[in-house]
Amino acid sequence: MCSAALSTQVTSPARIVRVVLDVPLDRQFDYLNPGLDIREGNRVVVPFAGRQLIGIVMALPAQSDVPEHKLKAVIQGFEDVPFDAATLKLLRFCADYYHYPFGQTVLSSLPLRLRQTKPAVSRKMWVYTLVQAVPENLVGKRQLVLSKLITLLQQHKECSERIFGEVSSGWRKAMQPLLETGLVSRREVLAIRPSLPASDHEPVLNEEQAHAVNRIVKDLSRFQPWLLFGVTGSGKTEIYIRLLQAVLAEPESQVLIMVPEINLTPQLEGRFRSRLSQFPLVTLHSHLSESERLQHWQAAQSGEARIVIGTRLSVFTPMPHLKLMILDEEHDSSYKQKDGMRYHARDVALVRAKQCGIPVVLGSATPSLESWYNAIGDVEKSKHTNKKPSYRLLTLNHRAAAQAQLPRIFCVDTTHSPPEAGLTPQLKQAITQRLERAEQSLLFINRRGYAPVLHCSACQWLADCRRCSAKVVLHLRQRLLRCHHCGDEQPVPLQCPSCGNPDLRPVGQATQRVEETLQQLFPQARIARVDRDTIQGKDALTELLSAVHAGKIDILIGTQMLAKGHDFANLTLVGVLDTDSALYSPDYRASERLFAQLMQVSGRAGRGDKPGEVLIQTAFPQHPLFGALQQQNYAEFADSLLQERITLQFPPAAYIAVMKAEAADYALVEQFLTDLTLSAREFIAQQGGILSEKPVIYDPVRPGIARLNRMERGYVMMQCTQRNPIQQLLHAAVAWARQHPLQAKIRWVVDVDALDY
Ligand code: ADP
Ligand code: ZN
Ligand code: ZN
Repeated sequence: MCSAALSTQVTSPARIVRVVLDVPLDRQFDYLNPGLDIREGNRVVVPFAGRQLIGIVMALPAQSDVPEHKLKAVIQGFEDVPFDAATLKLLRFCADYYHYPFGQTVLSSLPLRLRQTKPAVSRKMWVYTLVQAVPENLVGKRQLVLSKLITLLQQHKECSERIFGEVSSGWRKAMQPLLETGLVSRREVLAIRPSLPASDHEPVLNEEQAHAVNRIVKDLSRFQPWLLFGVTGSGKTEIYIRLLQAVLAEPESQVLIMVPEINLTPQLEGRFRSRLSQFPLVTLHSHLSESERLQHWQAAQSGEARIVIGTRLSVFTPMPHLKLMILDEEHDSSYKQKDGMRYHARDVALVRAKQCGIPVVLGSATPSLESWYNAIGDVEKSKHTNKKPSYRLLTLNHRAAAQAQLPRIFCVDTTHSPPEAGLTPQLKQAITQRLERAEQSLLFINRRGYAPVLHCSACQWLADCRRCSAKVVLHLRQRLLRCHHCGDEQPVPLQCPSCGNPDLRPVGQATQRVEETLQQLFPQARIARVDRDTIQGKDALTELLSAVHAGKIDILIGTQMLAKGHDFANLTLVGVLDTDSALYSPDYRASERLFAQLMQVSGRAGRGDKPGEVLIQTAFPQHPLFGALQQQNYAEFADSLLQERITLQFPPAAYIAVMKAEAADYALVEQFLTDLTLSAREFIAQQGGILSEKPVIYDPVRPGIARLNRMERGYVMMQCTQRNPIQQLLHAAVAWARQHPLQAKIRWVVDVDALDY
């Protein structure tokens, strides 16, 4: 598709063009139309503060509030209309709800190529369709290429150039007579990767799966959130495939499937391509090149792509015939955007589904407490609340593959069996057994690098980041101390900077060090480490995963990168090295996250026909979290967490928003935030009668990482049992912050439904 420039027009065009721009000002801007044929929704190039920017035309008003002689003129216009009304409505909602400038909300959801001022060109290709039955005598004995082309055309409703290209380089010549006689027609579409003919077999659904599919399929034509709560390996993906088959049977209809991380898209993409090969499919994630992103985005936006698989930003992709949304691993915190507009893709998906009147399926083995809270009323024995369920709950209790059993989970008490270089004797023995049986092991440690701390035993000095209030991690191979918060690197000192002692020791375990230990213990074993330091570039993980599948790896050491989604048939042992720091963390969400993570990583064991075993090293084996984990009883654990949240009035039993501020000098931050608390409390005192519920405003505090990248940080939390009063309060607070005398010296942001501080 070429976004052609607009020509000047004979009839008198609209004089004033009102646009939104990617600038941090919450308003729209008027320009003069020099006589171009500009319509609402078009992209235009306009001058702004000495630069040229892309704007989206929101309106063509008869008059401007600015005198015409002060208005600047539009430089150029493009004829494409990137957003439909439904998507703009969603973006409007998000800008309001997350208190982020509308122009930035709109433009940041566009592919980069459409934000650039030069025309955006996409590649096109031809697709061919058989129009009539082929006469028997048409193909001669020697015409092998022609016969293959016809077979492909008979198998598929539409065939792309690329499929023919695989038959023979001379296919065009063979095709020519078919086109000329009208047996075959062709049309031009955006060039996207075609799926190859289906090869995967279709398993018979088990009872739980069939029940889930039937319930959802019966109710496709209205808004309804479904929580698909199924243990790891229970066949949720198979359910998604059946739902897609049902929805896509309707001509034109489109489906959006979201996954938390780019790492998970290739696998899902592969399964969907082989099972739903007749439907054009595109992906949208950060590993695409800018031209691919444009191509895929336009395929979704034009309705050509019927299936879109994407990460969080894809929730804003315009899809004119969207009929179903699916969020896999809905509990995953990477659905929350951590800078710019801090949206949560799950919440946005719910709003979008409601606006479109379509179902949304949230799938997880460990649902977020937010979703759980919305769904548990759907269970008869709802003990906690008389909250009416807004989600329907569907449960899958069993693994789908016939022989696959859930793994057995054991705790190894590290107070009785102290680990040596990170490994307890029990874990070492379990690994030895796996090596003897030619089975695979996975060791999980959520910290990359060599050791989390560099320590001087003489004076107790610890290596700190120069820019953050955090310890730096030792990366031995590169001989660096690296901060995992700001990325700063410093050389490893030869002696203690504080007392001169040359004997500095690494303390604690991280992936590199565990790898080194394992190499010493099991010199014959083939060991691979999987973390952000070893896996870079888009094919690295895929290559490693195929090595694991091919049985070329005996022991995998990995961070959370390995915890999710992967399916290794010969992996029978999972060892979890260190969980205790998360067990007693001050963050009230830490145990929810830890449970989900352990359940996910445990779920990697025993997915084939061999039983799996999980060993968790901990000094607190009696902790209730492990009890629930051993029984694979997420429901009970979630219920107890929820009870706690209800008592404490924390989310999801209440809503929170935080105003975060940072500056080089904390005194400024403190003054700004203190002023904010006072004004906010005053607002509530005045408006109290109007608000349905009074929000609580806490005093300013400092986050866990008080200084980040040389900026001193603080925040104010606002909390309320209802959403609306918080929204009203934030509205006032944002207007107030924009006027504050310190505003130029401080960076501040609003984080609605913040997950961390
Ligand atoms: P989940 O997404 O819940 O983790 P998957 O959909 O990946 O589970 O299914 C786990 C494994 O079970 C896969 O290998 C899948 O092919 C297989 N599977 C799914 N449904 C069935 C079924 N009804 N019968 C047999 N095998 C199945
Ligand atoms: Zn020292
Ligand atoms: Zn740092």
